[in-house]
Amino acid sequence: MPHDTPLISTIVGGLVLAFVFGAIAHRLRMPPLVGYLIAGVLVGPHTPGYVADQSLAPELAEIGVILLMFGVGLHFSLKDLLSVRGIAVPGAIAQIAFATLLGWALGAFMGWPTGGSLVFGLALSVASTVVLLKALQERRLVETERGRIAVGWLIVEDLAMVLALVLIPAAASIGGDGHGPVEPLSAGLSRLLGFDLGIGAMIAMTLVKVALFVALMLVFGRKLIPWTMHRIAHTGSRELFRLGVLAIALGVAFGAAKLFGVSLALGAFFAGMVLAESELSHRAAQESLPLRDAFAVLFFVSVGMLFDPNILIDRPLLILATIFIIVIGKSVAAFLIVLAFKKPLGTALTISASLGQIGEFSFILAALGVELGLLPEEGRDLILAGAIISIVLNPLLFFLCDRMRPLLEGAKREEAAADPAAAADAGAAQEQMPLEDDEVHPTALSGHAILIGYGRVGRIVGQNLKSSGTPFLVIEDSDKRIGELKAQGIEAFMGNAVARETLDLANLSTARSLAIAIPNAFEACRIAEQARSVNPSILIVARAHSDAEVDELKQYGADTVIMGEREIALGMVDRLAQVHHESVPYEDRHEPDTIIPTGTAPLEKE
Ligand code: AMP
Repeated sequence: MPHDTPLISTIVGGLVLAFVFGAIAHRLRMPPLVGYLIAGVLVGPHTPGYVADQSLAPELAEIGVILLMFGVGLHFSLKDLLSVRGIAVPGAIAQIAFATLLGWALGAFMGWPTGGSLVFGLALSVASTVVLLKALQERRLVETERGRIAVGWLIVEDLAMVLALVLIPAAASIGGDGHGPVEPLSAGLSRLLGFDLGIGAMIAMTLVKVALFVALMLVFGRKLIPWTMHRIAHTGSRELFRLGVLAIALGVAFGAAKLFGVSLALGAFFAGMVLAESELSHRAAQESLPLRDAFAVLFFVSVGMLFDPNILIDRPLLILATIFIIVIGKSVAAFLIVLAFKKPLGTALTISASLGQIGEFSFILAALGVELGLLPEEGRDLILAGAIISIVLNPLLFFLCDRMRPLLEGAKREEAAADPAAAADAGAAQEQMPLEDDEVHPTALSGHAILIGYGRVGRIVGQNLKSSGTPFLVIEDSDKRIGELKAQGIEAFMGNAVARETLDLANLSTARSLAIAIPNAFEACRIAEQARSVNPSILIVARAHSDAEVDELKQYGADTVIMGEREIALGMVDRLAQVHHESVPYEDRHEPDTIIPTGTAPLEKE
């Protein structure tokens, strides 16, 4: 039966095993992606037992790439993209050149032909979209300056890949490697007069097509796509809206790839970007989230499937050299390039950590290289092994960068102290450099209230705290709301409050109270649990939408839990009572926008 339904069995096999091994990895305090990769190795052809369909898995993974890039596009405006071009374009080009050079040197050392060595180097130079975006998203970095630089860098790499995929077959057929499908007459002619012309024309054609696509998106897509989404939103059908989001993300990406030769990822990014300025972008991001996560998992499974563990025994030294280039060589290059642009150390470290891995693009290049007879099969195997190992090492790289940051900063300060001229320089550089949104320092408040979420609920709580003069700060993960808070002079931190780093900024240990005003009880429980462990005496007030959530939140340490639906019901009862039993005088206090003064607000009604 499974033989008749390869698509179903690949999806089911991939997701079920990824779930099982992801959960085990989580249990062992490892990143879940290690579990997903192991699931892939198990359903791959190199281990006994069930083998998933090897051509379907990477295709399914592409859907994950599309949805991820679409999601990133939703947070990006054209202005954001252009604001990082100054560093992303030269940075990505310099890094690609450096990594390609290292890869080429390794290839030359192995005695591979020049073309093959270059393809090998190029494959080691491009980072995986999925790995990079997942890493940034997990750390809530996408909307910070360093996140934007990393995404801009990725887009330049993506464009370079679009060019490389066009140029490599062309170069193989007219280049002098003697491999590839060489047609004698055209090769001779090309050598005589057309080598540069042929390649030049191809580059020009590719660039024109990309430019045409971008122009179409910015001129027509920018009007048409938000207009369509608004129309659908007005139908009130959630199902249609969800479908619309998927249709636009997948449709534009696929159309871009087929008609304009742009990569699927780039197409999806632009589809998201033209929707970014619409207020519907937030909803669109939410609607595509579950599917995006599921397919991104299949990406890791499909990478795992390609891995042949035997290579670890056959070629240990070569693998080490490959990993060295990917993880160390590329990272150091990116680190130095970012520093050369006078960006802070933290930015340089994040960018180099996020780029210190390879993935889907490298597989495509490797496959093309082997197909054209440029790259020996050994090269492809090294790329595959290098990818899987660098992906596993990536979270570790982030961890190391976090650890190295204080050390490096300390060294820099000492250096500056020892050399007054350098200190003056550093001071001047600091002045030129705007303070970054990601260079945040913990609050100076103590004995304060911490408010999490500034939406419909948090806003009312916050306004009350403000008018009663209570010292407080807000944690919010939407940058728009953060902007609003800062404009009102309220101290606010951007980030997911579930993340320990974000909570640490709020100085939990000395805070008096914590109000968790977010709708997701699962997240609220994680926040309450952490807060309780740091500060046993803090008052925790949380928000819930069902009795089960109330119980759960209390179990995780919340002192008082307000069940939204119950409060709404009580408000309605109150209002009805005023009409039916006229004993209660009419009052406006349950009008939606009324601010209830602190101290008199009922915390929990029994
Ligand atoms: P509302 O449901 O209208 O009260 O809005 C909830 C608010 O909480 C929104 O502004 C969200 O951006 C914010 N929010 C939701 N989850 C989190 C979280 N885990 N960390 C920080 N802010 C959050």
